[in-house]
Amino acid sequence: MYHLECIECHNKYQASEVVYTCTCGGLLDVIYDYSDIQITKKDLIGPLSVWKYRALLPVEREPISLHEGGTPLYRVDRLAKSVGLKDVYIKHEGMNPTGSFKDRGMTVGVTKALELGMKTVACASTGNTSASLAVYGARAGIPAVVLLPSGKVALGKLAQALMHGARVLSIRGNFDDALKLVRDLCDREGFYLLNSVNPYRLEGQKTIAFEIADQLGWQAPDRLVLPVGNAGNITAIYKGFRELKRLGIIDSVPKMTGIQAEGACPVVRAIRNNAAMITPEGKPETVATAIRIGNPVNARKALIAIIESGGTAETVSDEEIIRAQHELASLEGIGVEPASASSIGGLRKLVDMGAIEKDESVVCVTTGHLLKDSEHVLAVCPKPIEIDATIEAVRRAVFSC
Ligand SMILES: *Cc1c(COP(=O)(O)O)cnc(C)c1O
Ligand SMILES: [Zn+2]
Repeated sequence: MYHLECIECHNKYQASEVVYTCTCGGLLDVIYDYSDIQITKKDLIGPLSVWKYRALLPVEREPISLHEGGTPLYRVDRLAKSVGLKDVYIKHEGMNPTGSFKDRGMTVGVTKALELGMKTVACASTGNTSASLAVYGARAGIPAVVLLPSGKVALGKLAQALMHGARVLSIRGNFDDALKLVRDLCDREGFYLLNSVNPYRLEGQKTIAFEIADQLGWQAPDRLVLPVGNAGNITAIYKGFRELKRLGIIDSVPKMTGIQAEGACPVVRAIRNNAAMITPEGKPETVATAIRIGNPVNARKALIAIIESGGTAETVSDEEIIRAQHELASLEGIGVEPASASSIGGLRKLVDMGAIEKDESVVCVTTGHLLKDSEHVLAVCPKPIEIDATIEAVRRAVFSC
């Protein structure tokens, strides 16, 4: 029904094998026998969730689930007007059980871990992956080990990993160092690796594309804009749209548009230089910690997604990220973490540059919830006004500016 296949040399691996990359070093993809999958719009009537699209997911057993997916797609006319477009939507992935899209990958990935008989799950994380793995590990009743870059994880995410009982290791190094270490650890100890190099995790995340098309009445938008860190999500969403097209459910695939922070932008550089591969950055830096990654493991897949779909990649400064976060929150009532706001900052920049046509329909994916990173909020917003407990003081404070 499905197998794993190297995207470079097309070497095949059985679905029952525990393998993350090809012997040639290439990334793996889950390949289905699509002639086996008869699915039409009619089969897809009903409420949204990751498991609604089970016919297109590589899992046999009962899922480990907390009702992930089914996130809102908001039409945002005030924001659209502000950036100079007509048709803009936000797919708010912060509305997943742990507050980020990582849950879509983890419900599938942790279910797969049990199916493969794995006893412990592990990941490196800028924060959200660890929060999600801790939660799904707890839900599955198996231990989770998470490696985090010391001092660079937003408090809300760390709190989740701790409270849900993961073994939390704080690495004196950055995310890229932590990922290298956890891959080594998983090889040595037989732990199941649930970073986005794991192709099963991306299968869960491709349901973002299914839901967007579903919510738009089985149509694809012209363009998708989203933050790129380890570059798994842009890959997964592209695959989701391609599958729907292949099954005859939609007619077109959106232009995949990846946004990175100026201080961590290897994918953008590769696109600008027409390079087939990225050049890793040794010291990634940005306020958007979820995309503070210098050596994205899925870069090859992401470059293919961007180029094949006719999309692009662009950077935003930390200032633009924070401005976009404020704007989305105050103009539309949608609270997202800094990395997520980079998609809005990037949208504005690309419209200003003339790289996005005024009549394009655009969906921005906001990847994580505002409450993940309250410390950052306190740092960039005005402080509460402390006053005496009298009506005079309240009135003075309300009307002063
Ligand atoms: C993980 C994450 C990203 C980056 O996604 P990739 O698949 O690594 O590119 C962006 N934003 C948030 C909030 C995340 O948690
Ligand atoms: Zn290979």
